[in-house]
Amino acid sequence: MPELWRFLQSLAAITAENAIRYLVFAWLAWLLAFRLLAARWAHRKIVEARPTAADVRREVLWSASSILVFGLVGAATYLAVRAGWTRMYFGEPFAGVGWFVASIVLTIALHDTWFYWTHRWMHRPAVFRIVHRVHHRSTNPSPWAAYAFHPLEALVQAAIFPLAVVLVPMHPLAFVVFMVWQITFNVLGHTGHEYHPRWLMDSWLGKVLNTPTNHAMHHETFRGNFGLYANVWDRVMGTNHPDYEARFRTVTGRSRSGA
Ligand SMILES: [Zn+2]
Ligand SMILES: [Zn+2]
Repeated sequence: MPELWRFLQSLAAITAENAIRYLVFAWLAWLLAFRLLAARWAHRKIVEARPTAADVRREVLWSASSILVFGLVGAATYLAVRAGWTRMYFGEPFAGVGWFVASIVLTIALHDTWFYWTHRWMHRPAVFRIVHRVHHRSTNPSPWAAYAFHPLEALVQAAIFPLAVVLVPMHPLAFVVFMVWQITFNVLGHTGHEYHPRWLMDSWLGKVLNTPTNHAMHHETFRGNFGLYANVWDRVMGTNHPDYEARFRTVTGRSRSGA
């Protein structure tokens, strides 16, 4: 019985934590990009139209259901940690600061790889119809689309929690840093504005980093651009959309006056 009670407690805590993180980050991005700085950043909007109120409502509702799935998987992962089935370690987080940082970098690389390959799998027609179509109902997503997944896709996405703590020895604080990183990137990728400088695509960094333009085109065309944080898997596997770099240069080449 105490285990069930512990599960319910951690379910409530992890669900609330994920909900707060989502609400704060998506709301901030919405407030800045679509309200306060909408005019100032208009020239960096990748798709010209604004997401509709119906889009936003649908994205928030599906995200709420995903957050519950994240809570369930998170609580199960927490029990696994308590049972000693994972590599999570406790104590002074910065005792080995080198590993603390390395564990975050490794988890980001692991998540990037997990996301790319499961995303490609979800684009197989039979899987797409059931698992991934909900996310693609947003052809011009808003920041609120960050967690707009069918529950089955939410399960695939949440699998990174147990995967990370089973494969990477990490401190709980490193996991929190990773979670802040993932929501930041996820929200920025769905805000529909390109914030990178134009020179990015002419440097090696542009070949490595993923951009909001890349993901906006994925939502627009349903083809290519499967990556999350990095553009490495898309380049290695030749799955970047053929117009990706040109589109990035067009968006970042516009001046504020609209010329
Ligand atoms: Zn997709
Ligand atoms: Zn998306």
